[in-house]
Amino acid sequence: MICDQVEPAAKNKIVRRDVTRVLTPGTVVEEAYLEPSRPNYLVAAWTKGLEAGLAACEVSTGELLLCQLPRDRLQSELERLAPAELLTAPEVEEYRFDPVRGQQRLKDVLGIAYAASVGAAGAPLAVGAAGVVLDYLRQNQTRITPGSMTVRTYSPDATMPLDAATIRNLELPALVTLIDRTCTPVGARQLRSWLSAPLREAESIELRLAAVDELVGAPALRDRLQEVLKPVGDLERLVTRAASGHSSARELVALRRSLEAIPSVHEALGAYEALVTRQLAGQVTGAPEVSEVLARALVDDPPTNGRDGVIRPGFDADLDAILEASKGARDWIAKLESGERRRSGIRTLKVGFNKVFGYYIEVSHANTAKLPDDYVRKQTLTGGERYITPELKEKEAIVLSAQERIAARELEILHDLGETVAASSPSLRATGQAIGMIDALLSLALAAAEHRWIRPVVNAGLDLRIHGGRHPLVEEGLPAGVFVANDLELDPEDAQIVILTGPNMAGKSTYLRQAAIIVLLGQCGSFVPAETAVIGIADRIFTRVGAHDDISAGMSTFMVEMTETAYILGHATRASLLILDEVGRGTSTYDGLSIAQAVVEYLHEAPRLGCRTLFATHYHELTALAERLPRIRNQRVEVLEEGDTVRFLHRVVPGGADRSYGIHVAAVAGLPPAVIARARDVLGELERQRPLEPPELQLGLPIEMSPDPLRKELEEIDPASLSPLEALQKLYQLRAKLTS
Ligand code: ATP
Repeated sequence: MICDQVEPAAKNKIVRRDVTRVLTPGTVVEEAYLEPSRPNYLVAAWTKGLEAGLAACEVSTGELLLCQLPRDRLQSELERLAPAELLTAPEVEEYRFDPVRGQQRLKDVLGIAYAASVGAAGAPLAVGAAGVVLDYLRQNQTRITPGSMTVRTYSPDATMPLDAATIRNLELPALVTLIDRTCTPVGARQLRSWLSAPLREAESIELRLAAVDELVGAPALRDRLQEVLKPVGDLERLVTRAASGHSSARELVALRRSLEAIPSVHEALGAYEALVTRQLAGQVTGAPEVSEVLARALVDDPPTNGRDGVIRPGFDADLDAILEASKGARDWIAKLESGERRRSGIRTLKVGFNKVFGYYIEVSHANTAKLPDDYVRKQTLTGGERYITPELKEKEAIVLSAQERIAARELEILHDLGETVAASSPSLRATGQAIGMIDALLSLALAAAEHRWIRPVVNAGLDLRIHGGRHPLVEEGLPAGVFVANDLELDPEDAQIVILTGPNMAGKSTYLRQAAIIVLLGQCGSFVPAETAVIGIADRIFTRVGAHDDISAGMSTFMVEMTETAYILGHATRASLLILDEVGRGTSTYDGLSIAQAVVEYLHEAPRLGCRTLFATHYHELTALAERLPRIRNQRVEVLEEGDTVRFLHRVVPGGADRSYGIHVAAVAGLPPAVIARARDVLGELERQRPLEPPELQLGLPIEMSPDPLRKELEEIDPASLSPLEALQKLYQLRAKLTS
């Protein structure tokens, strides 16, 4: 909590103080509490029926985002926003989420009379959530006024939700670090926001790709942009803090420097032709009058402690007059020592100052006999006496009161400067956002140039064709030229499912993940690590990779695996991309194999699915499925057997593997030779005891998809032969069956 005096200081009176702000994780604007590269969202969210609404407010940049979305997508959207503070119905009374109330708050606090003007006409639940956010800000005394926030409604369909498992499996944070070459904190936040929300619409992806393409092709312009962007700093947050009256003089000077850097950015952008860059350049307007006022008002390097001496002489007549008067008194005091020495004839006389007595004249005991008459004794010391004179006290009063008045006047001036910034804050925030986007585009271009990525073709089809694809993070960890690039072709019509087999450590997981990463990067508008890539836009990327448990949630490794698989089968559509690594690994072989086969068949047969799938498995028995399911393709990662050992080639070729080489890998990993030898014996014994394919599994036999009875009944209805009444009756019957 921050308490401040809430009335002007006056003599002989206790000044009233009150709580002026309450700091919470979602409402802080102080630099010390914020991470430059991360947004700091205060989010309110609630659900009603099958829908959910949320309002996400970035107080430090003055942004309020509204979104209404299907209830089951709320969780992943919240994961993406990673709120610093979340307000939900259990903590906030439900009535506070009322959309009518929310609309009223938008009008009262931000002057937004119609939800439609911020694109929220069809998003009443989001408007309700906005009301909760605005209430909360008011409770915590965060200053907001009409114009101090940019309000925007976004559609959840425009972007791809990424669930926590996928973010983890694709190592998104490491990917962001690999790409991040931004020069400003605004750009760093923008880049993160893009990479955590891949687009689903070809046109917007193309716009970004075109801008990146142009930058990739112009190294000199890239250098120039980097140079001009660096001094811009965190324009968004500097503006918001200044406009809300929280800025120190040093921060205002930082804002001034930031504003002064804008014209060069604007100028540098003039050389670009891409549509997005041109549009963004148009938004980079700056506010010359604001930077000019700040430059005139503030000294270049204000002292860190206190506010004294931060305003330039000549800026404010009142301040200058106070300074002038105080200067006269100071000069008088400065000359006092020599004058008094002359007057009294005491050569050792001194003038000094301390906090308790103020100014004094000090004389040693030996000289106290010849003192002038107007000296009044104040304090006795071991070596001498301290005196004052009425005139000295008079001058002292001028100096001391001047200090208070200077501080008060400087404070007023800082406040007025804040108001000046506030008046231009909407256009300055727009400038900040545009600069953030330019910086993020530049970062994508720099990463593309550095890592030799190419521009993908992204379209509304469902093909995925990658030639010479690479995993950017694995490649980065290997010496140059060692990574083996691989091709991939997937499409729902023909090669829908790739079953990938191969020994441990061959590179199966790498191959799977690189496909997902290429699609993700492409849909963010980034270049991709491949020689060529055609990406039919995926509505979602689902990943189920590796074994991990969630002991804190009481789930074993296998339970996590099955829960994630169930989630994927329940949410994927024909346009999704599925990465399934080792499904069915966490249980006994036969159980696991049965589950793995059933999952592949379901993906192939279920009418809602039929989606592009990469399925890596150690069960090489599954390769038999390709013989009867037409859209399955077998691929394997090649290895070279050299006597008792294997060499990994990391090359993906058509066909299935017929063995796992697990023991070879165990040997490479350094298991004692005795253990390896014994394992070979046991394996030989097992293979003699049972045929390679477990007979009870009857692999290759189709699992009948049990038809849905309701669907069957629907199919049998002939609507043309029914009377309206019969049709209605039938509808009631079907409905009753559904709920029974
Ligand atoms: P497991 O079955 O044990 O999970 P895997 O087949 O999934 O293994 P990965 O984890 O993908 O194997 O890869 C193992 C290692 O092989 C990687 O860490 C990397 O060092 C190397 N590797 C993978 N793919 C390639 C490649 N295409 N080119 C060069 N090295 C690779």
